[in-house]
Amino acid sequence: MKEVFTKLQDLQNVLSNKYQLESELLEIPRSLKMKEESLSRQKKKFIDLNGDYELNQHGIAQLRNDFGHIEQLRLEAEQRMDQIKTQREYEALDKEISEYSSRELDMRRKIQNQESKGQELSEQLKSEEDAFSMLEAEIVDERLRIESLLEKKRNEISDLENEEVNIAPDMDKEMLYKFDRILRSKGGKGIVPISQGICSGCFMILPRQFMNDVRSSDDVHFCPYCSRILFYDEAAASGERVGTGVLDYDSSYRDDVEGLTDLVDDSDFEDFE
Ligand SMILES: [Zn+2]
Repeated sequence: MKEVFTKLQDLQNVLSNKYQLESELLEIPRSLKMKEESLSRQKKKFIDLNGDYELNQHGIAQLRNDFGHIEQLRLEAEQRMDQIKTQREYEALDKEISEYSSRELDMRRKIQNQESKGQELSEQLKSEEDAFSMLEAEIVDERLRIESLLEKKRNEISDLENEEVNIAPDMDKEMLYKFDRILRSKGGKGIVPISQGICSGCFMILPRQFMNDVRSSDDVHFCPYCSRILFYDEAAASGERVGTGVLDYDSSYRDDVEGLTDLVDDSDFEDFE
């Protein structure tokens, strides 16, 4: 095979590995990002919950304060009982005292309610806080792990870039640029052999004259359909049947159609099982 094609194939291996590593570089921090997002959601949840808890505690303090006030009023009323002179005064004071008592009872219930809510909130807060610090610790570990992994991948990339420079110093820059773009867009396959008159990258039949050009010229040719670089593979060509490219195309086309028919028959059959 011509030297330029061997070099391009070596380069293709190097570049494919490089692109793989580059996409990994982008992919690797994604898990960390997800954890960080989850941490910030957790943080918000914690802050909201803490706000609820503070409101609750404030409410309890307020209720206790009011309760103390009513209790004081009741005690004072009870003391006034000693100075009662008439039945009417007694009834009025007794009514006042029992009103205070009933308000106290009501407030005591409210306080108990609020206190048990407060207890729940405080337990939730504790468990949120635990989850929060666990996630925070995980993120610290993850960051370290990712940093060292990224470092390793970056080193591998820089090794590949050195290899790239070694392979391609005397190659045409414009052609290399084009090759690089094809590799990126065609999933790492930028140079393919012509097999039985067909581009083995896009499987289109190539014009005969074009094939002859590829075969006889030292220039680099790009597939007119998929832009991949084509080379004439003598080994593959020796197994090629005598005949035109069109006939060869027809036979492989028929194989495809038969394959497809088999597939359809099988699936139809499965439906009846
Ligand atoms: Zn092609």
